[in-house]
Amino acid sequence: MSLFDLALIKKYDRFGPRYTSYPTANNFKALTQDEYQAQVVISNMRKNPISLYCHIPFCDTVCFYCGCNKIVTKDKTKAEPYLERLFKEIEQQGALFNHSRKVEQMHFGGGTPTFLSNAQIIRLSEKLQSIFNFTDDGEYSIEVDPRGVDEDTIKALAQARFNRISLGVQDFNVDVQKAVNRVQSFEQTKAVMDLSRAYGLESISIDLIYGLPKQSVQTFETTLDQVAELRPNRISLFNYANLPELFKPQRRIDVLMLPSADEKLAIFKYSMDFLLSQGYVYIGMDHFSLPEDPLAIAQSKRQLYRNFQGYSTHAQCDIIGLGLSAIGQVGDGFSQNEKNIEKYYQRIDGGELPIIKGQIINQDDKIRRLVIMDLICHFELSFTKIEQTFDIVFEDYFADSLFGLSEMAEDGLLEITNRSIKVMDKGQLLIRNICMVFDAYLALSKTQFSKTI
Ligand code: SF4
Repeated sequence: MSLFDLALIKKYDRFGPRYTSYPTANNFKALTQDEYQAQVVISNMRKNPISLYCHIPFCDTVCFYCGCNKIVTKDKTKAEPYLERLFKEIEQQGALFNHSRKVEQMHFGGGTPTFLSNAQIIRLSEKLQSIFNFTDDGEYSIEVDPRGVDEDTIKALAQARFNRISLGVQDFNVDVQKAVNRVQSFEQTKAVMDLSRAYGLESISIDLIYGLPKQSVQTFETTLDQVAELRPNRISLFNYANLPELFKPQRRIDVLMLPSADEKLAIFKYSMDFLLSQGYVYIGMDHFSLPEDPLAIAQSKRQLYRNFQGYSTHAQCDIIGLGLSAIGQVGDGFSQNEKNIEKYYQRIDGGELPIIKGQIINQDDKIRRLVIMDLICHFELSFTKIEQTFDIVFEDYFADSLFGLSEMAEDGLLEITNRSIKVMDKGQLLIRNICMVFDAYLALSKTQFSKTI
């Protein structure tokens, strides 16, 4: 399978959304509590399972490539007042949802969730379990910074019911690590993985980034050899977007040390070829998994879904976002919490939900969301399926989009045949570009997105 076509990648080189939702979060507007609660009523009527997302915003050091919403502090006493508010928010949200609804997913993200002490992580998980109705076989995951994690932490994660961990690695080369202020040895990472497997946290995902300072094909080859030795179940290979005007920590990256655009593409090509040669399946965008992983199985059964945490096997879940800046997806609406910690505390202390913005999606959003979801998850789109779901004539409704795809079809990125769109191998890496043709908000957007490759 040849996914990589350099000429096409250069031709379609542009910025675009990652489509963890449609409409994308940059389109969110003010959302009131009443509007949110109306969506909860719809959600309770539909009785879909629940996914809980808890955001822990603290990190004790800053990675220079960071574009996340976090608070950098070494002061661990900040965790307790935060948890106090988070517990209140969990109670407020829990009171809105019908208790018979099952929780199939829980994810702690950040920031660095392991900034919390072991006891705090267990308390937070137990708090959620005391309010919500967890299934026995759910997918419970947490982002782990291997630096400073020991056997007691892994034991605590198992006790807190986690069965999946996601490890930030980015690159094992020490010069690259120094240049991004995240020095973390291969041995540290391996020890955390071995312990996790020993304590039953069997599904392990590793995040890598290409395009970091001091990286070259040669240095990244070594990193990938080490990753292959660890054999994580899932690998995310993110493209570093250097946007120092948007993300302050990136101003500390020496641009002269960044690989050239050609070198960066060469790293990406090598990585793709290498991971496929190691038996990993390309899921889409920047994700790979072992063939026996639920992501690959869901994709082969056309049950894959995409949400704010990336690709997911839990298509029907409503997501309750908890904590600073957390995003939720409930009923026909998206919601996002306060991003400023003082304001977040004020809202909770005042007995309010800390939701400040979001979007109630309309019929056009729903139609386009299904189109984009099918393309990005399955690389295929059936016009008949969309027509049967929404009572439209696909060719009429999307006449402009189909015209917009004609050049991509001529370039061999996709085929439009038999009332369907099939994304070809060399179009798979450019799936964001293909989805963008169906995005009704893009022309109006002032957001600076990352490069599509
Ligand atoms: S990349 Fe992750 S760990 Fe590093 S500063 Fe950002 S949020 Fe914290």
